[in-house]
Amino acid sequence: MRKTLLKGIFLAALAVLALFGLLEKGGFGAETQPSAAPAAAPRQSAPPERVLVALERPAPAPQAGLEESAPPQAEARAPEPILHIFDTALGKSVEMGLEDYVLHTLAGEMPAGYEPEALKAQAVAIRSYALWKSRAYGGGGCAMAKDADLCTSSSHCAAFASDEKMRKNFGTQYEEKLAKLRLAVEETQGLCCAYEGEAIQALFHSSSGGQTEDSAAVFAQALPYLSSVKSPGEEQERDFRSSLTLKNEELAQKLNAAFPGAKLEAAKLQGQIEILGRSASGRVLTLRLGEKQASGKALRGALGLKSTNFTLKFGSGELRFEVLGFGHGVGLSQTGAEAMAKSGAGFREILSHYYQGVEILPLSKLE
Ligand SMILES: [Zn+2]
Repeated sequence: MRKTLLKGIFLAALAVLALFGLLEKGGFGAETQPSAAPAAAPRQSAPPERVLVALERPAPAPQAGLEESAPPQAEARAPEPILHIFDTALGKSVEMGLEDYVLHTLAGEMPAGYEPEALKAQAVAIRSYALWKSRAYGGGGCAMAKDADLCTSSSHCAAFASDEKMRKNFGTQYEEKLAKLRLAVEETQGLCCAYEGEAIQALFHSSSGGQTEDSAAVFAQALPYLSSVKSPGEEQERDFRSSLTLKNEELAQKLNAAFPGAKLEAAKLQGQIEILGRSASGRVLTLRLGEKQASGKALRGALGLKSTNFTLKFGSGELRFEVLGFGHGVGLSQTGAEAMAKSGAGFREILSHYYQGVEILPLSKLE
């Protein structure tokens, strides 16, 4: 009897302690909030990094405990999609909210020093591309892993900067740059570019060299919203012009290795290398390399040129490639967006320029 009583007191005490424990954590149900779940860190060495990002989000007023995971406007919006992101460094997929993905990819893809409206245009482009690719919205996902919507690789899906990477890149300006990027994401929250009601394949690149490219010329698929447009003002920005000079011997050796059967000879390069065709925007489509034909894209890859928009300057014993722009040239030009923003354009105007005929819609209006 006495034993049973003691056991009862003990159990009651346990229950009280457990209740306190839950309250300390922020109340019943707080842990099941969707904003808490994707906080799983992609880096093993710093597990709380995504949590830190969430905690540092500038709230209207600093509130403790219960309120932090439940923003007041959450109910009015469509639920935030959860993406499966394949972390190429970890070799596995992590779950992440769309807006978090946009923030980290914005940090990976555009200099934080850019104009706020350029950052906002880029944020909307990243969000649109992510939805276009996301399996839940009918996209094909990322081919790097069968369960992934996107991956963190810049050479595959888009460059993703983890919190660790942001801290490293931003250094002493970490807080200020993160706040600026976050503002661009929050001020465009849930907005994306849509064509016929669906999120678009919002491709982007660093610099177009003055004229963007038709998607058909690069990816063999003509998309009406990815047609060539002028991109003025880029000449004042980074990546507009570059060059590569190679000695004839080295060039012949590299190209013979990359294009077997070309049979290039260092002494005869001037007669052996010839541009055969350019796209309407000026990018090299095909060229003759000795006894072979190659695409501008293949040559760009073999030599590491910044774009396929190049001209050849034969010198004495060397060949100089003079290159305009950086990247494939399709869709939004980042430096063009920056130039537009500097001259007063808002993010909607920037997006409507680079993605012709699109509407800018909230998530809830997508088909
Ligand atoms: Zn990928």
